[in-house]
Amino acid sequence: MESDPQKLLGHLGHKWESKKCPMCGEQAWVVGKNVFELREFHEKGFVIGPGPVIPIIPVTCSNCGNTVLINAFIAGLPIRQGDPTDSEKEDRQ
Ligand SMILES: [Zn+2]
Repeated sequence: MESDPQKLLGHLGHKWESKKCPMCGEQAWVVGKNVFELREFHEKGFVIGPGPVIPIIPVTCSNCGNTVLINAFIAGLPIRQGDPTDSEKEDRQ
């Protein structure tokens, strides 16, 4: 799913003090449009269904590739905690 870019930029502008990339020192960040998810690792395979999922939005340094992952919940983006992702909803139909 896509994030709300204006809301995310507002969050970053308010919270991100030093915008220098910690790897290369540049300020060439590119804010991702889409929300991705982090799932808990299970050594016996990928688990589909309910479980802890962290929605994240990548912000990538276009100079060196260093990527910062912003938690969409904490950024205040309109995602309800615990909801399945859009792709999971499609899988169930
Ligand atoms: Zn960098």
